[in-house]
Amino acid sequence: MKPLPTVEAIQTTDLDDRPHEECGVVGFSGVPEAAQYAFLGLYSLQHRGQEAAGIVGVDDDGVARVHKGLGLVSDVFGPESISKLKGSTALGHVRYSTAGGGGARNAQPIVATYADGDLAVSHNGNLTNAVDLRRRLVKDGAIFQSTNDSEVIVHLMARSRHETVDHKVDDALSHLEGAFSLVLSVGNTLYAARDSRGFRPLMLGSLDGGMVLASETCAFDIVGAEYIRDLKPGEVIKIRDGVLTSMRPLQPAPRQSPCVFELVYFARPDSRLWGVSVDRARREFGRQLAGEHPVEADCVIPVPDSANSSALGYAEESGIPYELGLLRNHYVGRTFIKPSQADRDFGARMKYNPVREVVDGKRIIVVDDSLVRGTTSRSLAKFFRQAGATEVHMRIASPPVQNPCFYGIDMPSREELIGSSRNVEQICQELGLDSLGYLSLEGMLGAVEEAGPFCDACFSGDYPAPLVDVEKGWVPGNRGPAC
Ligand code: AMP
Repeated sequence: MKPLPTVEAIQTTDLDDRPHEECGVVGFSGVPEAAQYAFLGLYSLQHRGQEAAGIVGVDDDGVARVHKGLGLVSDVFGPESISKLKGSTALGHVRYSTAGGGGARNAQPIVATYADGDLAVSHNGNLTNAVDLRRRLVKDGAIFQSTNDSEVIVHLMARSRHETVDHKVDDALSHLEGAFSLVLSVGNTLYAARDSRGFRPLMLGSLDGGMVLASETCAFDIVGAEYIRDLKPGEVIKIRDGVLTSMRPLQPAPRQSPCVFELVYFARPDSRLWGVSVDRARREFGRQLAGEHPVEADCVIPVPDSANSSALGYAEESGIPYELGLLRNHYVGRTFIKPSQADRDFGARMKYNPVREVVDGKRIIVVDDSLVRGTTSRSLAKFFRQAGATEVHMRIASPPVQNPCFYGIDMPSREELIGSSRNVEQICQELGLDSLGYLSLEGMLGAVEEAGPFCDACFSGDYPAPLVDVEKGWVPGNRGPAC
């Protein structure tokens, strides 16, 4: 018989398998048939995660029912599954596909029954001490069902020695380091919190006398909710039957650091984030980029969809016509998530195709939001030349990505980031471009100054929250330790 794994062996498996969390969350309280609204909310947050989706509905007796699975929101849910999630309290989650895998068992919300009743958690962000906490909990006898950070929160709640649920929530959250914007239910009381640096977004809205929480304002628009405000960094709230109470805030951080990459790439342009419109922020990045890296050309072409707004800004500022010279097939997944380089090149072909009539015989400026591994740009340069472009000038509406993210954006290791080891001339040559220009860090931050200060660690290497697991050498190879 195979020997039972030791705690150390279990830990190793957990580490290798640990997913990167890029997610979207929603929460509803005091809204009849809340699960239906959660479905719609998640539908509009689909860009924040395509691997798995889940909804928990909590009925008037505090009984939580969950339906979750792998796939898009529209694949996971149908009228029948949603109708079973009864109650006026609901929370939902979409999860991004990850390098670490994990599969169905990592789908959220996580649900458990403990001393105070049914508990559910929907979490966006990466805890930087999840492995540390997990090791301690496992040593203490905890059994984990998934490899995701958020299950740690469930165990911390269940093991808290405090009397009331409010105190247990406070206690559990006080152990967490890193990034978390989460919605949690105990019975039909909903709690919501943002870590004290405020890495990931979480907004509060109202709907027909009830309350709504969501990662982005586009989720309010789809359900007809009214945006009230962003949850403040470190804020913890409790909502029951649609009535909100403020709880004791978390220990304040030395400085707030919402993620600037949400504005660069991740959020939807029709959302407002950190008090600014994502579309306006991207346009401003594009304008700034045009000022920093002008070039003579016939047209400006966005890499759809994430660079549409920044390319518009570039075109407006430079006076060079904006052209839709590249088509994106919306029915394939993001190429970034393909596991090997070979697949990623193929992915670009599957996803993008130039419009020959637009680019043939033209000097073109191609604007993208970011350069990560450089695979997309390399393929695009090739495609544009094959379609007749005489010059291909690449403009990137953010600075070089040089460092992995440990707070919830899926980035490859430092070695795989093209901007970490090569200068602009080398990258330009490697990608087969006539010229390359990145937006400067100062230019980017200056364009959205009113919403800062930000976490810009992926560009600057300045990590605002302690990287507990990394410092202990406990982060899987593909995340790369911070040097
Ligand atoms: P790459 O081909 O690796 O240089 O990736 C750059 C492209 O991936 C850009 O067009 C971005 O829109 C997109 N991108 C940037 N960051 C991410 C991310 N964390 N997840 C998925 N796609 C991303």
